[in-house]
Amino acid sequence: MTLTLFEKIINKEIPADIIYEDEISIVIKDISPQAPTHLLIIPKKVIPKLSDASKKDKDILGHLMLLAGRIAEELGLDETFRLVVNNGAAAGQSVFHLHLHLLSGRPLNWPPG
Ligand code: AMP
Repeated sequence: MTLTLFEKIINKEIPADIIYEDEISIVIKDISPQAPTHLLIIPKKVIPKLSDASKKDKDILGHLMLLAGRIAEELGLDETFRLVVNNGAAAGQSVFHLHLHLLSGRPLNWPPG
C-alpha cells in the first residue's frame, strides 16, 4: 500500500522540521511557508480529507483543534492566527492526509483566495 507523504514523515522515512509530536498527532513546519509561521497539524491516523472523517474521529479532530490553540499560545502568536483545512483538490488540497494549516505572522486577508 502506498503511504501518504505525511505517513512517511510520521514514520521518519523522510525528514521534516518536527516541532511537536504525541501519540495522536505530529506538527511540522510547512516546506513552502505562506506566512512567517506556517505549521501543519497532522493526525497520525490517515483520514484522507475532513469530509472522510466520521463520528469515531471526533476525539482526534478535537485534539487537533485544541493543539492548534496550545501551540499558538506557546509560540506567542498573540491569539492571532488562522487555521485552514483544504478539503478536495479544487479547494487546494494536495496531500490527501488530513491536516490543519496554522498561519500567522502577517496580515491575513478575508475572503481568502
Ligand atoms: P494542502 O495543499 O492543503 O494539501 O497542504 C499540503 C501542504 O504540505 C502544502 O502547504 C505543502 O507546502 C506542504 N508540504 C508538501 N511537502 C512537504 C514536506 N515534505 N514537508 C513539509 N510540508 C510539505
